[in-house]
Amino acid sequence: MLFKPTFWLKNVFSIDEEFLKKNGVKAFVLDMDNTLSMHGDPKAEDGVMEWLDKMRGLGVKMRVVSNNTTKRVKPLADMLGLEFTSNGAKPLTFGVNRAIKAMDVKKSEALVIGDQIFTDVLAGNFAGVRTVLVEPFHLENKWTFRLKRKIESLVFHRDYSDLELK
Ligand SMILES: [Mg+2]
Repeated sequence: MLFKPTFWLKNVFSIDEEFLKKNGVKAFVLDMDNTLSMHGDPKAEDGVMEWLDKMRGLGVKMRVVSNNTTKRVKPLADMLGLEFTSNGAKPLTFGVNRAIKAMDVKKSEALVIGDQIFTDVLAGNFAGVRTVLVEPFHLENKWTFRLKRKIESLVFHRDYSDLELK
């Protein structure tokens, strides 16, 4: 099922040493907006920097692949010390494939991590990389995002009731 993530987690902080070992994970292809930071926010969410440092300490390789522009992605990626691909055009797979190649890991050792089924999860599944779907840090307010969430909640029974979906 192309729309189905391998793992559904609350947020990236659920990924710890035990999770990595259990699932043989050595690398992350990370989404940015609503996965590491609030959409449009120049800062990372609280705890993200510490979590990245912890993952680095465990030897995890990481790269950002974002559909957003370089102007948006670069400042935060630089601040977090992460290499990135902007204008990633997920669900197309070139960004994910480029990241895997750059990190020099096997696809079976990597995870694509993001908050959106139609971009992050699809891209990972198309590329043949396991996926982690996380809850968005903050709900998007644009109607396009609201529509996507609505479809996701209807089709995939995701529960956004605590996220004030209107
Ligand atoms: Mg996102």
